[in-house]
Amino acid sequence: MTSETTSAPNFIRNQISEEIEAGRQGKIVTRFPPEPNGFLHIGHAKSICLNFGLAEQFGGDCHLRFDDTNPAKEEQAYIDAIKEDVSWLGYEWAGDVRFASDYFETLYEWAQHLIREGKAYVDDLSPEEMREYRGTLTEAGTPSPYRERSVEENLNLLERMRVGEFAEGEKVLRAKIDMAAPNINLRDPILYRIRHASHHQTGDTWKIYPSYDFTHGQSDALEGVTHSVCTLEFEDHRPLYEWFLDNLPVPAKPRQIEFARLNLNYTLTSKRKLKLLVDENIVDGWDDPRLPTLSGMRRRGYTPASIRKFCEMIGVTRADGGLVDIAMLYHAIRSDLEDNAPRAMCVLKPLKVVLTNVAEDFAETYRVAGHPAREDMGVREIPFGREIYIDRDDFMEEPPKKFFRLAPGKEVRLRNSYVIRCDEVIKDEAGEVSELRCSVDFDTLGKNPEGRKVKGVIHWVSAAQAVPMEVRLYDNLFTVEQPDKDKDADFLEHLNPESLTVVQAMGEPSLADAAPESRFQFERVGYFCADRHACRDGTLVFNRTVGLKDGWAKAQKKG
Ligand code: ATP
Ligand code: MG
Repeated sequence: MTSETTSAPNFIRNQISEEIEAGRQGKIVTRFPPEPNGFLHIGHAKSICLNFGLAEQFGGDCHLRFDDTNPAKEEQAYIDAIKEDVSWLGYEWAGDVRFASDYFETLYEWAQHLIREGKAYVDDLSPEEMREYRGTLTEAGTPSPYRERSVEENLNLLERMRVGEFAEGEKVLRAKIDMAAPNINLRDPILYRIRHASHHQTGDTWKIYPSYDFTHGQSDALEGVTHSVCTLEFEDHRPLYEWFLDNLPVPAKPRQIEFARLNLNYTLTSKRKLKLLVDENIVDGWDDPRLPTLSGMRRRGYTPASIRKFCEMIGVTRADGGLVDIAMLYHAIRSDLEDNAPRAMCVLKPLKVVLTNVAEDFAETYRVAGHPAREDMGVREIPFGREIYIDRDDFMEEPPKKFFRLAPGKEVRLRNSYVIRCDEVIKDEAGEVSELRCSVDFDTLGKNPEGRKVKGVIHWVSAAQAVPMEVRLYDNLFTVEQPDKDKDADFLEHLNPESLTVVQAMGEPSLADAAPESRFQFERVGYFCADRHACRDGTLVFNRTVGLKDGWAKAQKKG
């Protein structure tokens, strides 16, 4: 890897390190707890790298646990995709994949336990009434008229809720804590809701499902999680998390620690909004390379190492509000591919050039390093002949002063080959340049022409052996830094109509059998990845991962 300091502050790592040094902490256990209601995105990567990273650094375990309490929105397909993404990032969960639904029976017993202790009751208020009774930030709530039901009645009603005797919304089970608590989460929070839905793990066993709050901490406790790391929006839930641990016969007492979530500019990190883009066919599925999903980033050409490096660079703090510059993510992948991607020449906008002083049957081949600094990447063979393609952008009929590429009467070097001069410009009926006639200076292979300065070097491919391919060029999916900043506006208004451009390109022969997901630097152009779907079917399609210019590194240097 291109070396540079990558450590950013990580207060959770520091804290655990201190606990261990002081002898206050044995083996640590963390967990990554996704809800299987969508694909993972770059925000989740921050949480994955943090949780799995901590376990790795301190010789502990990290569990993968699906927080599957909402059957209506969850699917097996999401479970499979999430497992694949976590593995792809390079992490191994300890033991089997776990599910909160594995604990439904225990949670139910614990609900009965709370009822027996006089700490939970079945409520018949409608959702609207419940909202009214809850009070506000400045006013205490009002106790529900059902709050004083007897233990027997509550146990009986809960059992009947469980087997489906009541309709959805007719009753809920609530904790009996404090309707005047300043923290609204403690005003008799809901423990169970009635849902007549089939669950991907438990089938039709349950007609009631536990709430997130009643599930999460207890699942942590059952698994022996020591540090329950979550994002800041759960800070206000911590007193409730602790209330359950204090009032239930749990086998362990995990600690909840909150950190600031990742927000990236030009990027949406909300599963719900990403799902909308997918469902409305605005993008090409969950792994569209324009999406910040891990599977989209994978298809685009990101490496697991680059994502892990990015997560290390952004650090972990409690301070919220910051918007991370996506240029930093581009920097992370660029520096990985700079060191690890083989080079190739590919012309994105082919313009035919006939080299008039090269014979029809002239053929030679250059042996060129696969990577300038990596002998292990071997050599590739680049054929040369009378007809070649160069990029349209490397030619200008009326060039400005500092244009050092090809122009009428001007010279340029073909990378790894000769210096050529443009003698003639041929146009089609519409007046578009359709071909160039150039001549080769045969004295210039591997050396500079005597007495003449040729500043420009351009890439090219030999027309006879060039491989045609589709190249997909991606730009940000949104035109503004925070597409969902205004909660009342439609984030779709900020979609970038030019987020995808498809071109028919010509590549050097070494690209002909690029394996799906293999990555290259197309010299002078950028980094590209063979599409994992198309290339499997034998069609050559490359996705642009990122361009060559590193805006982030440049900004760092300027300070
Ligand atoms: P979304 O808002 O995209 O639906 P979520 O929090 O509802 O995300 P979960 O599946 O519950 O999705 O998330 C699993 C874990 O990932 C949680 O611990 C959550 O805090 C964390 N996480 C989600 N988004 C981010 C983010 N942007 N930055 C850091 N961690 C995140
Ligand atoms: Mg969540």
